[in-house]
Amino acid sequence: MTSQRARDRLATKLKEEGIRDQRVIDIIRNTPRHHFIDQALHSRAYENTALPIGHGQTISQPWVVARMTEALLEFGVPQKVLEIGTGSGYQAVVLAQLVSQIYTVERIEELLRQARRRFRQLGLTNIRSRHDDGKLGWADEAPFDAIILTAAGDAIPHAILDQLSPTGVLVAPVGSPSNQMLIRMRGDGQGDFIQEELAAVSFVPLLGGIG
Ligand code: SAH
Repeated sequence: MTSQRARDRLATKLKEEGIRDQRVIDIIRNTPRHHFIDQALHSRAYENTALPIGHGQTISQPWVVARMTEALLEFGVPQKVLEIGTGSGYQAVVLAQLVSQIYTVERIEELLRQARRRFRQLGLTNIRSRHDDGKLGWADEAPFDAIILTAAGDAIPHAILDQLSPTGVLVAPVGSPSNQMLIRMRGDGQGDFIQEELAAVSFVPLLGGIG
């Protein structure tokens, strides 16, 4: 079901499950998630679940997208945001409707090709994307006001932390598949970070190299 009713129901569910930022809820309600998945799964597009997108990868659960987006925006709307793990492109499209400029990196070329087609179809011109190993970040465009990782590693790669502005915000899943936490790190302006645990989550792994 891709109807307005299904989208409204998802928005209600997000609110019930603790999402507070109305901007984020409205954007998720109005973003056509069915455009980001295979036709065979369209009937499930507005369920609050992760879904397969091929190559062993998934489009994240809407609640997780909402929580991560809300966590990035809590201290003010960042201008320049880096995403590691473009996947379907859905999280990038949600963010692109809130911030000035998104830079997104994906290691699987075919996924990136499909995501770029969706960005064009939706008429979004503030997303730049790159086929590369996201563990390296996007050095030429650093620093970023905010960084979001949508794949989980044991720790945040140093190259990525180095590209966060001194008062920037980073949101990422960290840990093993059986024990993962969504964390937020906030630069204190003096080279240190304030770290918080936001929720238990389950993401695909952050891999090295390009696919
Ligand atoms: N943000 C995505 C979620 C995709 S799942 C969405 O909204 O659909 C995570 C993605 O991270 C996968 O596509 C995977 O290929 C990618 N990934 C994993 N390790 C990576 C790395 N080192 N560099 C770039 N992308 C990576």
